[in-house]
Parts: sequence; C-alpha cells; structure tokens
Amino acid sequence: MRRKLVAGNWKMHGSLAENKALLAGVLAGMGDVKAGVAVCVPFPYLSQAQAGLTGSAVAWGAQNMSQHAKGAYTGEVSASMLKDFGCTYVIVGHSERRALYGESDAVVAEKFAAAQAAGLTPILCVGETLEERESGVTEQVVGRQLDVVIAKCGVAALARAVVAYEPVWAIGTGKTATPEQAQTVHAFIRGRVRALDAAVASGLVIQYGGSMKASNAVELLSQPDIDGGLIGGASLNAEEFLAICRAG
Ligand code: PEP
Repeated sequence: MRRKLVAGNWKMHGSLAENKALLAGVLAGMGDVKAGVAVCVPFPYLSQAQAGLTGSAVAWGAQNMSQHAKGAYTGEVSASMLKDFGCTYVIVGHSERRALYGESDAVVAEKFAAAQAAGLTPILCVGETLEERESGVTEQVVGRQLDVVIAKCGVAALARAVVAYEPVWAIGTGKTATPEQAQTVHAFIRGRVRALDAAVASGLVIQYGGSMKASNAVELLSQPDIDGGLIGGASLNAEEFLAICRAG
C-alpha cells in the first residue's frame, strides 16, 4: 500500500517572517493528516525549515541542486550541503528548470544520481508542454524523460525516488489536468516501470502537479495511480495546503 505524499514547492517565494507564519499554520493543522507531507523551500530558508520542522511530521527539502559533488561551480549548491540541513527531498527536473535554465534530460539524470548518492530522495518531475500534448506525443515525452533516468541509474533506483507528473500547461496556469487525463499518464508511467520491475512499479509514489488546490485535490487523489501532489501556488497558504494534505 503506497502512502500518499503531498509536497509543497514554494518556488522563489517567502521571507523569514512569512515562512514562520506559514510553517506554524501547517504544523498546527497536521493532527488529522494521514499523508506524508513535505515542503521544498528556497536554499536560504533551509536552516529555518530545519529549525522549525525537526521532530515534526513535516519533512523538508530543496527545489534544485547541482549535479556535481563539489568544486568551482559558483552559485551552485551540492547534495551533501542539502543533507547538512536535514533535507529528505530534492526536486529535480522541474519544468521551470528545464525551460528557463536549459536543464536537459541528461543533466536531470545526473542530478537524480547525485541526490541519491548523498542519501536524498529525488522528486523527479516529468511532463509535456501544451504543444506536445496537442501533437499527441505526451507519452513519448514523459517516457523519454523517465527512460533517461532509468538508463543512467537503473530501475531499482526508482524505489528510492518519487516521480511527479506535472503537465507544463497546468503549472501555475490555473488549468488543472482532469482526473482522467492525469490518471492516464500516471498509469502509463507505472506501466513503463512495471515492464522493467513490477515490485518497484507497485511501490512507486507518483505525484500529480499542476494547479492542484483544495477544490480539486479529492478527485485527483482518488485516482488509483495518483499518489499525492506536488503543490506550487497553493502551498503558500497553510489552510489551502492542509486541505490538500487532508485529501491525501
Ligand atoms: C509546481 O510548480 O510544481 C506546481 C505544480 O505549481 P502550481 O501548483 O502553482 O501549478
């Protein structure tokens, strides 16, 4: 039985004061949440997350990391640095990183491998653009994004990872994939993994991400292959985020 995981992706939002209030609000409402919960915060706030969440039911992580272990990479942050701040998770391959910072499938796979080598659980984001969906190549795109990671790390590596299906056209746009659209792709992802390793496939947590909010979470999370959510905008409001967590 897979336990659902709801993770907030704060993106480049927050301040010490705002985060304090948000974390306090989330912690105060965790009593009736059954799903696993995490927040992926901007790098400078990792110590605040560690201080505020240690010993609680909320895990924390980062939104990106370097594929390199150390060295002359000005401005980069390594996986071991994230471990130093108690991170459990790190998002790799978010569509904003792929589109705005040119991260290729190969770089994403390197980041995935480096995260696991440091003991972090990568949340691997995959998903198609609107153009790709309309051209009927959603499964080709998502399959390729997944295959590159499997080719580099092996299918067994997915036993220590989370996959987030995030249709690019649904991220931050208010356009959510219908539960059926999302379920179809989630089932495709699980099927692709199952063809290589049935046990890994049945244990794999596959989150949905893309304008998930309190009002659509129950329906999305009741789909058989949707095991949680990666939540952007709605994770910045404690009540909204908690309502999604409770739906999980
Ligand atoms: C995301 O950035 O991962 C995301 C799903 O954003 P939003 O929920 O705002 O669409």
